[in-house]
Amino acid sequence: MCEVKVLFNGYSEQLDDKTMRANCTCTLIKGPKLIIVDTMTAWDQKRILEALNRENVTPAEIDYVVCTHSHADHIGNNNLFTNAEHIVGFSVQHGDLFYEKNIKNEEYILCEGVKVIATPGHTAEDITVLVQTNVNGQSKCVAITGDLFEKEDDILNPSLWKDLGQYDLQTIQSQMRSHVIHLADVIIPGHGPMFPVTNTMKQIIDSQVIV
Ligand SMILES: [Zn+2]
Repeated sequence: MCEVKVLFNGYSEQLDDKTMRANCTCTLIKGPKLIIVDTMTAWDQKRILEALNRENVTPAEIDYVVCTHSHADHIGNNNLFTNAEHIVGFSVQHGDLFYEKNIKNEEYILCEGVKVIATPGHTAEDITVLVQTNVNGQSKCVAITGDLFEKEDDILNPSLWKDLGQYDLQTIQSQMRSHVIHLADVIIPGHGPMFPVTNTMKQIIDSQVIV
C-alpha cells in the first residue's frame, strides 16, 4: 500500500497587479515505487534534498518524477532525479529517449496503487496522480491535482482557478474538476494544503461545470 507524504505545501498570493508570490505543493509517494510529484522552483534544490533526507530517500532512488504541468514552479528540480523516468504533462522521457504513451486518452499505471490520468484545463496537458492509500484501515483515493485545483478556497471562489488558467480551457477545466472530485477522497491541490472531499464540495463543483 502506498504512503503519501506532502513534503511542502504550495501557496499563492497576489502581491499587486503584476506580481504573484507562489510555489507548488511537492509530494512524495512511497510504495512499490518511489515517486516525486512537482519539484518546485529552481531555487528550492536544498530544501528538497533536505526533505528527502528526512524521509530516508536519496534522489538516485526516485523511480518517477511526475510534473502535473510544465510551468516553471513545478519542474525546477527535475534534474536531481536522473535515474527516474520523467512524466511532464503528457510527455514521458528518460534521458534523450521519449516514450510514446497515450496519456491524453489512457491512464498510465506507474505501480500498484498509483496511476496518472489526463486532466487538462489549467494548461492543455495537465495530469493528475491518483494514489490508493490506507487511512485508519480504510482504502482512500488521494488525488494530486496540480493546478486543476489551486487550493481549497477555489471551490467557493472559482475566480482563483479561472484567473490563473487559460480562458479557452475553462470549460474542460470545470469538467475535469468535477471528474476528479468524484474520484477522490482527499485532494492535494497545486498551491495549498491537502483537504478532504465532502459531498457539499462535490455538489458545488458539479454546479460550476460549464457545458
Ligand atoms: Zn502552479
